[in-house]
Amino acid sequence: MWLGSSVIGNVAVAEEKSSQDIRLVLQITVDGLRADLLNRYANSFGKHGFRYLMQNGTVYTNAQYQHANTETIVGHTTLATGTFPAQHGMIGNVWFDRDAGELAYNIEDADSPILPTREQSSSGEQVDPAQKLARTKGRSPSVFLVPTFGDGLAAYYGGRSKIFGVSGKDRSAVAMAGKTGKAFWYSTDNGDFVTSRYYYDDYPDWASSWNGQRKAEKYADSEWVLLSDKSSYLLAGQDDRPYETDLKGYGRTFPHRFGEAGNKLLFTQLAVSPVGDELLLDFSKALIKNEQLGQDAIPDYFSISFSAVDAVNHFFGPSSLENEVVIRRLDDTLAELFKFIDATVGLKHSLIILSGDHGMADMPEYMTELGYAAGRLVPEEIVEKANQAGQELGIDEIVRFFYRPYIYLHDEKIAGAKLDPVKVEQTIADALTDLDGINLAVSTRNMGAGKSNPLIEQVRNNQHVSRSGDIYIIQEPYWFLFDEGPIAAMHGSPWRYDTHVPIIFTGQGIDAQQIHRLVHPVDVAPTIAALLGMTAPAAANGLPLPEVLQ
Ligand SMILES: [Zn+2]
Repeated sequence: MWLGSSVIGNVAVAEEKSSQDIRLVLQITVDGLRADLLNRYANSFGKHGFRYLMQNGTVYTNAQYQHANTETIVGHTTLATGTFPAQHGMIGNVWFDRDAGELAYNIEDADSPILPTREQSSSGEQVDPAQKLARTKGRSPSVFLVPTFGDGLAAYYGGRSKIFGVSGKDRSAVAMAGKTGKAFWYSTDNGDFVTSRYYYDDYPDWASSWNGQRKAEKYADSEWVLLSDKSSYLLAGQDDRPYETDLKGYGRTFPHRFGEAGNKLLFTQLAVSPVGDELLLDFSKALIKNEQLGQDAIPDYFSISFSAVDAVNHFFGPSSLENEVVIRRLDDTLAELFKFIDATVGLKHSLIILSGDHGMADMPEYMTELGYAAGRLVPEEIVEKANQAGQELGIDEIVRFFYRPYIYLHDEKIAGAKLDPVKVEQTIADALTDLDGINLAVSTRNMGAGKSNPLIEQVRNNQHVSRSGDIYIIQEPYWFLFDEGPIAAMHGSPWRYDTHVPIIFTGQGIDAQQIHRLVHPVDVAPTIAALLGMTAPAAANGLPLPEVLQ
């Protein structure tokens, strides 16, 4: 009997915390925020940014992604859907489209062109290696295979919840907004926040008005400078390192100079600085105010994915002075966001979740300098080694395509040679595993062969029948599967520096506590759903986190 009333008691508590109280679900993702970076800089944070969440929320210190290809679209879609790339289908930022015979950028969609924000269009110089591979300028969530939390929320409240995703990157906004929400993202062409025909026929007035102010252009010919004395930074000695990228005059050291008006790299440079996050905050405020998020009892969903930490990591590395500066500036940006949310919605009516889409590796050159020898694999040499192994089986040029981490083979050549594809893949995988810098090459048709290796499970979670390749290449720790820039550092491995991200839940009734047990980002969406009294997203594999619900 006592047990029965206890259960009823728990249900009552859960209801108290649920939909009546939560008017806004604010899901914050910090792109490339390896969990330990928050610890490294904790002493320099103010009271109202990261510290507000860390001191008032339930903080999971050991949250690990369970898929192998720790890239942006993969992590965001996992957070949004509560399931693995094997099910949500986003197995990489880029994959080889076997039917078309060419690479596909994850959310490209020729039928959903980006809506122009200006009469005269201009184009900036694209440096994002994944974006560069996009064949069209259209973007939409059509390629997602399962629903997001937001999609479930739309259904639950009869379409009355407002659902938005914004980001410095298209894929991060689109993944979180799902198919039923609306997305806006920063354009490196002109510094505007854009959307596509999938979401709107025309920009809402408030968005046109924000873009009309040309806020990004005002930074032309200015500099990213240190706002505190250099000696106040833990990584003050890590500013000028030869293996950092000097992006055509942007420089390796402070101050970093933004290009003049008309410079094709200006808007990319802003994205590789705290300005990218600050513009995103400013646009978000306009959205929250004008779309009246969180103003009634029907909960709204707003996802904001900050991209500057990741961009800075790629160019300067996660142990650079630039990394410390951009995270400290993001701390101020978050403080301003929370102040704004308190004034417009009320923090007591807001459920705030913070996480990351993946971590980041320190650069091989840096690790080598410290005495941990690592290096960069040359993609052409990987292909050559695989082709050699194919040759020994009697097949010429067996590799159809390689784009990290997958090799795609010529199926018809294997069939033509009347060879068993499982044996062929395994033979090539074994040959690749012998290469310096490769920890394990996995035949995706024959994953059982590596049963005893825990990495196999991460590859399996990443495996989609048509999008994934035939052989998955896992580099050794701190090795990279590319050798040429412009970017210097990378994520995307199954190792802990890439899988470890923060998960923090903050809101009324949620305890301030640190939880050290192993949890996973697939648990995030089911937990948000449970807090709102909803069933988890349709394909969710994760579980509601009990410490948040208690
Ligand atoms: Zn990312």
